[in-house]
Amino acid sequence: AKASGRNTYQYYTHELTQRTRRQLSLEHHLRSALADQEFHLCYQPLIDQRTNAIVGAEALLRWDREGAVTIPPSEFIPLAEERGLIVPIGKWVLEQACRQIGAWSASDIGPLRVAVNVSGRQLDQRGFTRELDDLLLRHQIRPDLLELEVTETLLLHHDNASGLFEYLSQLGLRLSIDDFGTGYSSLSRLTQLHPNTLKIDQSFIQAALENANAAAITTAIIQMAHSLGLEVVAEGVETPEQLQFLRSRSADLIQGYHFSPPLKVHAFEEWVRKHRS
Ligand code: C2E
Ligand code: CA
Ligand code: CA
Ligand code: CA
Repeated sequence: AKASGRNTYQYYTHELTQRTRRQLSLEHHLRSALADQEFHLCYQPLIDQRTNAIVGAEALLRWDREGAVTIPPSEFIPLAEERGLIVPIGKWVLEQACRQIGAWSASDIGPLRVAVNVSGRQLDQRGFTRELDDLLLRHQIRPDLLELEVTETLLLHHDNASGLFEYLSQLGLRLSIDDFGTGYSSLSRLTQLHPNTLKIDQSFIQAALENANAAAITTAIIQMAHSLGLEVVAEGVETPEQLQFLRSRSADLIQGYHFSPPLKVHAFEEWVRKHRS
């Protein structure tokens, strides 16, 4: 028993060392990824449930390390947040998204709303509002084509969310509460922030057809959001049955693999043209 205990100990130590080494190596490469131009944005369409029209897209960050392996955001975003690297990376994402909004507005694709994920570190930055002001001015885009997505959990722990949101909506930007339903906050408290959009977390959407509770919660969220004048996005919609359920509950916008996964710019543009034809 003693021997096996020691083996287990050695095994864990080995595991930890491996993981730490991997983390350090990832962090090291993450620091140079911006300069090395290893990031790009993918776009996933947002579809109007009633008209089937493309309303916009969510921009999702991708990291191709040395052009080879793509590292998922779930692995590098938390690390980037921990190390403060999310601030310059997030700035790059916003810049890129605004450039894309401008390019589409001037092309056959036309004006599309682009939703960008914003992390807490970015919101806490002193110059964040000025940065956005400057961004809109430089790119000369309609401010309502840029939507900032902030998670419900983040807003729960943020002291000055209402002041910040007020300023951002004065700029004309759209504000969206992401992953709604996972933070156990009261909708009435969140509406004090005057968001435009509520995104129901995909865990509810995916459970709705198998689980009566998830279905009831989804239905209730949509009803409450609508009575408060908010637009509702259902994300993670993968099947025709899920789409049908959300249609019957009048969710406004649909996002998910059922329509399309996140795509690189050119593939997204092709998808838009095909969807419209
Ligand atoms: P999120 O904001 O909740 O984004 C939605 C995630 O669901 C994306 O994962 C998307 O690819 C995935 N998804 C979309 N449709 C479906 C579907 O039908 N089924 C399933 N199973 N998944 C679907 P992704 O791209 O891996 O991003 C993960 C998370 O990383 C995002 O979650 C967001 O929190 C974060 N993230 C991504 N890009 C950025 C960024 O530019 N900045 C920040 N701060 N965070 C980002
Ligand atoms: Ca999001
Ligand atoms: Ca989400
Ligand atoms: Ca999420």
